Amino acid sequence: MTTSALHKSKPADQIHCVDPATREPLGSVRVDSPADVDAAVVRAKVAQQAWKKTSFAERRRVLKALLSYCVEHKDEICAEVQRGSGKTRENALLGEIWPACEKLRWMISQGEKHLKPEKVSSGLLAHKRARLEYHPLGVVAAIIPWNYPFQNIINPVIPALMSGNAIVIKPSEWVAWSSAQFILALRKVIEDAGHDPNLIQAVQGFGETGAALARSAVDTILFIGSVGNGRRVVEASAERITPVVMELGGKDAFIVCEDADIEQAAHAAMSGCFINCGQNCVASERILVYDGVYDAFAARALELTSPLRQGSSRDGVVDVGAIATPLQLDVIEKAVAGAVAQGARVLTGGKRIHSDKGNFFEPTILADVTPEMDITRDEVFGPVMLLMRVKDDAEAIRVANGVSYGLSSSVFSNDRDRARKIASELEAGMTAINDFGGVTYMVQGLTFGGVKASGYGRMNGREGLRSMCNIKSVVDDRFPMNRPNRLFPVADADYGRFSGVIELLYGRGLSKKWRGLTKLLSRKS
Ligand code: NAD
Repeated sequence: MTTSALHKSKPADQIHCVDPATREPLGSVRVDSPADVDAAVVRAKVAQQAWKKTSFAERRRVLKALLSYCVEHKDEICAEVQRGSGKTRENALLGEIWPACEKLRWMISQGEKHLKPEKVSSGLLAHKRARLEYHPLGVVAAIIPWNYPFQNIINPVIPALMSGNAIVIKPSEWVAWSSAQFILALRKVIEDAGHDPNLIQAVQGFGETGAALARSAVDTILFIGSVGNGRRVVEASAERITPVVMELGGKDAFIVCEDADIEQAAHAAMSGCFINCGQNCVASERILVYDGVYDAFAARALELTSPLRQGSSRDGVVDVGAIATPLQLDVIEKAVAGAVAQGARVLTGGKRIHSDKGNFFEPTILADVTPEMDITRDEVFGPVMLLMRVKDDAEAIRVANGVSYGLSSSVFSNDRDRARKIASELEAGMTAINDFGGVTYMVQGLTFGGVKASGYGRMNGREGLRSMCNIKSVVDDRFPMNRPNRLFPVADADYGRFSGVIELLYGRGLSKKWRGLTKLLSRKS
């Protein structure tokens, strides 16, 4: 039986999980029904009632316990991630544990600052005080994909807890086994810290379980996944007007100008294309290289890619791991075959590795790729470097922006002003200059998210934290005056008086202001 057949076995009341790099069965996870989902949301709401009253110091104490868990159990987590997704040990450590630790560190040191009530000017109402308060929304739903099995879970847990929310997580069916282990472990940390573990819950299943969570009584939804399912979640959320943050796919442009440092750019492209075997929403899916350095860049990229070792980290150190799902393997194979049929040239790789051992696609470089080819529009989400030739800044910007997505991007040039100028023209939520676009994820003070079909709303940073809050505007008296603000009954002269106030305050020039003042003082209507 193939892995996809295992996944699709009916009745689908169990998810049978396998290691994509070895095809060894891992175990089965029960599928939650819509009633189970609703019950989880109710439990989360109950747990949140006590949690929302905790101090920031207490929340920090719990986050510190989570940080200790990540550091002390990193090897176990990496091993579980590897088994669940087929990625390499190093990808698990650098792509899952490190960002989790950094996110916790940032939240522990910065979270309170961004959640404390914030004074704002009361403007014209000088007798009033105004402030913004950040209250938890209640229960956050996180519907997440399979590409970072641990990171995708802990990433929303951290801001949810810091802002006083509970969270119900719907992990991807493809990594249901490892997700179940991680969520159990996080719940234990919460319980050991003296709080209700129902603050963090998992609901497991296929798309139907995700759809049930999107329709449930949660207070906000973070959806990370494909555009098609994102659209379905938005539709489902409309029923209760539940707010959503959409983190969808990408087709990131990676621009290499003729004055770029080719060595630096080539290594960054390796990260952009082959980290996590390309299964990265911020993968550098289109490498746009200027004519003058195209051949040199292609030659260096080929030199770096050809010797890459691929396999399971269980058999020793490898550079590139497996593709996490057999469906994704089909997508990559079809995209590459389509590009070749449309005229792309394979410099290296280009094939799936037929073996009973796991889902592998060779690290691949395709040259002579043009914007007319389908592969430059649709997300590949695999270890495929597409080399496209451009002649100048204007063409690079036009090609970069000529897709429906707008997640991250990169620009390489030794002229920083020029690089910044190109960067500012890119339709993307993130841009890294002289680095792989994914590096922005490691700067936790920055936000993460896209424009166009890549979604809306933001994770990470201040905005990500506040996306889980009811941002409440509060006004009160600067000094207790107890003077009624009498607007009723309306007097004959009121219209003229207020019209005078508006002209006095906002009229341009002294004569207009003078006219406003005279109207204000006049008793005529
Ligand atoms: P997917 O859309 O197939 O699944 C994501 C999650 O949605 C899974 O848990 C799935 O079970 C659930 N789901 C499926 N149908 C649903 C429905 N009708 N209602 C509610 N939930 C439903 O995505 P995937 O294949 O798991 O992940 C790959 C995609 O995720 C890529 O497009 C990638 O770019 C994107 N991604 C984006 C980011 C980001 O931050 N922008 C990060 C990682 C991955």
